[in-house]
Amino acid sequence: MAKGRFRALLIFVLGALLGTTGCGQAKDYPNRWVYMHGKPLENMDQVALIRKVAKTAAEHGLNGLVLDAFFDRIDMEPPYNYKNLQVIMQICKDNNLEFIPAVFGMGYNAPLLAHDKNLIEGLPVKDALYVVSGKEARLADDPPVEIANGGFEMAEAGAPANFTLNDNSGETVALDKTVAKAGSASLAVAMSKEYEEGEKLATQEVAVHPYRCYLLSCWVKTEGLEGSGDVFPMLVQAPDGRRLQYYIPPVPGTSDWVRAVIGFNSRGNDKVLVSVGTPAGKSGKFWVDELKIEEEGLVNVLRREGTPLVVRGEQSGIAYEEGRDFAPVSDPVMTLLFDHPDPPVTILPGSRIKDGERLRVSFYHNYPIYNGQTPACMSEPKLYEIWRKTARMVHEYVKPNKYFLGTDELREAGSCEACGKRGLNVAQILGDCVTKQEQIIRELNPKAELFIWSDMFDPTHNAPGDYHKGYFYHVDETFENSWNYIPKDLIMVCWNSGKRDKSLEHFQKNGFRTFGSCSGGPEGTRAWLEALDKTKGSTGLMYTTWSENFETLAEFGDIVNRKK
Ligand SMILES: [Zn+2]
Repeated sequence: MAKGRFRALLIFVLGALLGTTGCGQAKDYPNRWVYMHGKPLENMDQVALIRKVAKTAAEHGLNGLVLDAFFDRIDMEPPYNYKNLQVIMQICKDNNLEFIPAVFGMGYNAPLLAHDKNLIEGLPVKDALYVVSGKEARLADDPPVEIANGGFEMAEAGAPANFTLNDNSGETVALDKTVAKAGSASLAVAMSKEYEEGEKLATQEVAVHPYRCYLLSCWVKTEGLEGSGDVFPMLVQAPDGRRLQYYIPPVPGTSDWVRAVIGFNSRGNDKVLVSVGTPAGKSGKFWVDELKIEEEGLVNVLRREGTPLVVRGEQSGIAYEEGRDFAPVSDPVMTLLFDHPDPPVTILPGSRIKDGERLRVSFYHNYPIYNGQTPACMSEPKLYEIWRKTARMVHEYVKPNKYFLGTDELREAGSCEACGKRGLNVAQILGDCVTKQEQIIRELNPKAELFIWSDMFDPTHNAPGDYHKGYFYHVDETFENSWNYIPKDLIMVCWNSGKRDKSLEHFQKNGFRTFGSCSGGPEGTRAWLEALDKTKGSTGLMYTTWSENFETLAEFGDIVNRKK
């Protein structure tokens, strides 16, 4: 090790004399780590895995282990979990691995939302129609919505009537009069190598009301599909192609009829494109029947200061008072999915609201992107109160000198009132959030080194100015320039293997130190080292797996230590 440090120093001095340290010579890196994600402290099997991984890492020259153990909810852990944390820290100590906690998981946020699901970023529902009948008001059609021939009973020239079929569909998308959930026919799709994941197979334009919540459902039967796919079996897009939902309803690869349900917010659109879409696999068959759309009410209504609920009389214009005219509104089930009934607005005795009155109800709601991405609102003060508390506990239990900040793939931001009122763009809101993250840690340990996933600060990754048509998933803007609003002493953990040179160059140019993250394998590891060697301010490389595949960890360690 002493020899290694001397060599690194020599390279640095030579580099400084030449005016650059990015001379492309092999460097000895101070940070050679392995990343382990999603390890809840209560799971002793995971502790056994950590023990195994730590041993391999140490035997092959690695010196750090990053653990994501849901530290954003560490204050909610039962006492025995703290003992498990001590066990894990001892494992690291025994193997000479620095223990680096992954905290502030901004973008996925499930551990944080364990405190309060209302902290999820909110999408606006504006002026949904509720009609009072007796002691409660219920959602009413405004206007009625319908998918024509959603039962796939009617044919036109042999194809399902009212739907536009994919040009490549040929014989693979057709009405099937031998299989049906209801009526006497369904839409049958034979998967083909011709299809890319997420293609629209059968599409219909449906009139909707802007800024309303809709529930889209169908029945689906499958035979030999290669797992369930990204957009299977329903896809909703705005007329300009923007996807309005990314949630993947669980559908087994082979199954009798199951009901699949998704929800979406129509955003600013008065029509949407509803499609039966392709799953990820290339083989197998599926049938869809009873494709149906309906407006949805207060399911998963968000109740926090930045997501106000407004109930007003359609005729009178009176903004009725919660707790006086109607009972406090909440969704006690709050799964963030569309798997439970919508709560009513309950009229209180002595209310100014009249029986039969038409009400306009505005509120915020949200739903996951893919399976489990539920970003919190970055403008809600409670977020930082929770992080302040959990970070203090991590500091007390772990006393880390290095922290791993989990901000990445932030696909929802800036859409609630709390965000809108700030007069900042989303790049500035994100920059402020990360700056606050750093401050929280600096208050505990002024000298701590902070590493952060780089994608949301990288124009070659998730922060380009021209992403799609100027939006990023559910975010109405892009994160361009986000890198200008964050502290320069953050170390950027780059993982964009396809564009690693450009990515590293971007951060070098903007004065950030860097750190690589790769999934192992000799080719990928060497390519990353080569790129890092050329980069001024690069600090090392991390083995990162999302599928518990640690098979190439030993080889990774040897390559990073230049032994292979
Ligand atoms: Zn917000």
